[in-house]
Amino acid sequence: MSNAAMERLNQLLPEWLETSRLHTGQGKVASYIPELFKASQDELGIHIMNAEGNHVSAGDCGVPFTMQSISKVFTLILALMDHGEEAVFFNVGKEPTGDDYDSMIKLELVEPGIPFNPLINAGAITVSSLIAGDCKEEKSRRILEFFRKLANNDRLDYNESVYQSESETGHLNRSLGYFLKHNGVLKDDVEDVLAVYFRHCSIEVTCADLARMALVLAYDGTDPITGIELIPRRYVQIAKTFMTTCGMYNASGEFAIQVGLPAKSGVSGGILTLVPGQFGIGLVGPALNRKGNSIAGVHLLERLSKEFDWSFF
Ligand code: GLN
Repeated sequence: MSNAAMERLNQLLPEWLETSRLHTGQGKVASYIPELFKASQDELGIHIMNAEGNHVSAGDCGVPFTMQSISKVFTLILALMDHGEEAVFFNVGKEPTGDDYDSMIKLELVEPGIPFNPLINAGAITVSSLIAGDCKEEKSRRILEFFRKLANNDRLDYNESVYQSESETGHLNRSLGYFLKHNGVLKDDVEDVLAVYFRHCSIEVTCADLARMALVLAYDGTDPITGIELIPRRYVQIAKTFMTTCGMYNASGEFAIQVGLPAKSGVSGGILTLVPGQFGIGLVGPALNRKGNSIAGVHLLERLSKEFDWSFF
């Protein structure tokens, strides 16, 4: 079944990708992290992988890009593996905000001032502080090692220029960090926590890496190609729930209606999504729509989901 779908995807994907690419002109490449603004406006690439390791790809799928907010899904999982559900959700909530991902507005509203969920910046910064390790270097090392295992790629690494660029200009994230420290949510040195956060956002991948990571989620935590369990099923379930309710920022409701798959986007234009029990999908298209999601990427996923009846609702 999955292989027949692969064949059909093979036929459709190159042409559909080019049609979606026409939408890139209506989007904007992110510029608030200056280094990200170097990406090409009209870039679009996708890689779809199944449990046998077969894949279909199209467009600019070989271009490397940084994970940005997509990394938040996997740091959440690592924090859950380090400390368990109770400890993590003592520090971060479970509800969507309906606000922008870097918003401060609702930080005061959840008792006792904890972030609404782990996928907004305030929540992800809090999660970074929960990663086990004696110092920021150790925490970052553990995150990178975990990501390498999930992508089955030992060469995954940071893009130092993007890291420096965000570290120098991340004033809003800095203020979120100090606000969380004021609220008693962050216990550690704020600059150290932010260094861990900026570092995991700057991990560089290709669409194939994202597809492999997504495949692990599509198979409930076990890499179906190696048969190795990398994540307990319960934590995958939690991660996929957040991806569905908050993964596409404050366009998650619309994405659930139009595409109906758990997904996470990043400001570099990446989207990681999955068809449960079938495919892991990684895509990149740096031109973003008003809600901060890849404009052409969302267009392509909507079309694919309708054609292949992927929505799980
Ligand atoms: N590193 C980015 C930031 O904190 C991640 C945001 C995003 O991808 N939406 O602003």
